[in-house]
Amino acid sequence: MEVEIDEDSGFCFGVVRAIEDAERELKQRRGLYCLGDIVHNNLEVRRLAQLGLVTITHEKLSLLHDTKILFRAHGEPPETYEIARRNHLTVVDATCPVVLRLQRQIRQCYDTSREKKTQVVIYGEKGHAEVNGLVGQTCGDAIVVEKESDLDRLDYHRDVALFAQTTKSEEGFCRIAQEIERRTRLFGAQLISYDSICRQVSKRLTQVRAFAVSHDAIYFVAGEKSSNGRVLFEECLSANPRSFFVSGVKDIAPELPSGVRRIGICGATSTPKWLMEEVASYLRELPGE
Ligand code: SF4
Repeated sequence: MEVEIDEDSGFCFGVVRAIEDAERELKQRRGLYCLGDIVHNNLEVRRLAQLGLVTITHEKLSLLHDTKILFRAHGEPPETYEIARRNHLTVVDATCPVVLRLQRQIRQCYDTSREKKTQVVIYGEKGHAEVNGLVGQTCGDAIVVEKESDLDRLDYHRDVALFAQTTKSEEGFCRIAQEIERRTRLFGAQLISYDSICRQVSKRLTQVRAFAVSHDAIYFVAGEKSSNGRVLFEECLSANPRSFFVSGVKDIAPELPSGVRRIGICGATSTPKWLMEEVASYLRELPGE
């Protein structure tokens, strides 16, 4: 039996950068605070915790004073920077440059179109850290839409500026944009849409599909909280029905599906390579047919 790891899977450059920042800091000092999980992968979070990374929640942030804190790749809203300033916290800002650019674009759009009462709409996951950071650029005014039924909350007499969370699918974004366009047209308003999906993510959809069809079975490795993981896994599943979502070896059934000769292992932009390798070694040891 052959087990192959998809070489295009694994951390995107935003996550690599954040982890490198954390590791560099941890070489110089015993501990470092991180606001929220550095990556949506519990096993990688645990590995970094062993090196001294202490993950804290947003609620705990206000209690922290005169120390160093890392902001992860997802980015933060302006209020978080304000709390850090007030509490004399030194920020190691690992916000991904792609997210940072999107935050600035949203802020600029909000500031310049406020008089015209343009609605800033973000196609993304409500409550997701990146989305919270994006909404924060609009003083909380942006409307987050996850699905078509959320579109009833918009006022179609007013213009709409549409953005996307960087990890959403292009297909979903196009569907939402088309529907908003249809409704705004009915009332003479305008839609301006900004395709802000990260290319690191969108090109992986095609890559992961090609990888999934070229193997008999796929083990997709990702943390349950990874939104990008869910999107990529769905793509795998539609290309190859014998695709299994696993967060680690503990989720793997002791027997392989029948007739499997070539197994493919792939993952999300938050999946560490070492974890995919661990899953590969485990699968190689399983008895075949
Ligand atoms: S998915 Fe793209 S935007 Fe998000 S952290 Fe990675 S590189 Fe940055």
